[in-house]
Amino acid sequence: MASLVGMTTIRTEFCHCGASLRQTAEGGCPYMNPGEGSCLYNPKEMSFAFHIEKTHGKARAGRLITPHGEIETPVFMPVGTLASVKGIPQDTLEELGAQIILGNTYHLYLRPGVETVRKMGGLHGFMSWNRAILTDSGGFQVFSLNELRKVTEEGVTFRSHLDGSSHFFSPESAMAAQIGLGADIIMAFDECTEYPAERERVRASMELTLRWAERSKRYFEEHKDEVPWGNGPLTSDRGPEEKQVPRFVRNDKNEGNAGEGARATQALFGIIQGGMDRELRRESAERTIEIGFPGYAIGGLSVGESREMTREIVESTLEHLPKDKPRYLMGVGTPEEIVDYAKLGVDMMDCVLPTRAARHGLLFTSEAKISIKQARYAQDEGPLDPNCACRVCRRYSRAYLRHLYAANEVLAQVLNTLHNLSFYLDTMRRVRHSILLGEESRFF
Ligand SMILES: [Zn+2]
Repeated sequence: MASLVGMTTIRTEFCHCGASLRQTAEGGCPYMNPGEGSCLYNPKEMSFAFHIEKTHGKARAGRLITPHGEIETPVFMPVGTLASVKGIPQDTLEELGAQIILGNTYHLYLRPGVETVRKMGGLHGFMSWNRAILTDSGGFQVFSLNELRKVTEEGVTFRSHLDGSSHFFSPESAMAAQIGLGADIIMAFDECTEYPAERERVRASMELTLRWAERSKRYFEEHKDEVPWGNGPLTSDRGPEEKQVPRFVRNDKNEGNAGEGARATQALFGIIQGGMDRELRRESAERTIEIGFPGYAIGGLSVGESREMTREIVESTLEHLPKDKPRYLMGVGTPEEIVDYAKLGVDMMDCVLPTRAARHGLLFTSEAKISIKQARYAQDEGPLDPNCACRVCRRYSRAYLRHLYAANEVLAQVLNTLHNLSFYLDTMRRVRHSILLGEESRFF
């Protein structure tokens, strides 16, 4: 947040359910009890809600309420593949203002295994992260890391990229894994269609994803109470100091227990497929909405198609998604692209780019993309990005960062990742700010 210093601060009063009081005055709070004028929202009974505070063009600024805190949207979600955002400790993620991070079911299922995580209170307890988490279904990794996968109606057989051992994911087992991992938002099991592909192949794949979406939802509805924290302490009303509480204290079932009958559950999102065919994307959207989910993701993009095509498919698919539900675009993009997608009306995005690029010395700045390994930075005393207020840019010179990278110091990866993540999170906060201001600004 430090880099927002100097920008106009927007204060909006909120009902504790997340709907703004202004909306409430207009009858907008969906939980308002008209007789008493009080909000009926109880975070100990309700797990998930989404409210749009303001729109500007197609862009939306909203609030997503989860059992582990609120998320301001549009949001960028750092990727923590193996229950770790590579190189960045959880307290630093909190400092950077990350409100939700992403974990990969495929990787966590293979290592350390779902049961290990479940026994430790799910991902929140295991990695000591008390804010929101989203897990993917594993479908994309099975698709991208396994050339020898075998897809049947029942599910996908694949080989571990670690030791070659054989495994099987079905909609049911992918749901069971995600319930055990205990993220706040989980994803239906889908087939990510390869690109390029014939239309008939794309249609068949889309139909399979729709059948799997129904099976995912059925299994989830029957087993959602098995989430590791479902009957445990809820954190919706936690104070800022609670994030420092060690895991072993927070997991004590006697501490802050929500009480008998209080149950928070995960939210299961559906995924729209349909390849690069706008008509199939429309059909996929309509039929996935018919099945009914609290949020919808656009999957199957960034699989080798041109950037223009990604944008075209995103824009056309968004037209078919409900306005009152969160929209999650999976696995994109550059800083320019995430701004663009937020302008089109996407609420949630994730991408490995800021963290992966950082480890290769590629740094996003307000001026340009920098390859810190270049010799021209060897004597450069200036900050990495003069317009960034992250702790790397406040403290270190380009020359020092270049030296760390050239000498292959571990600190290079830590500092580079910290800056890139800060840049992405700041970018999204600025976009949100612009939507709230509703005026022409850098982003609109
Ligand atoms: Zn910085």
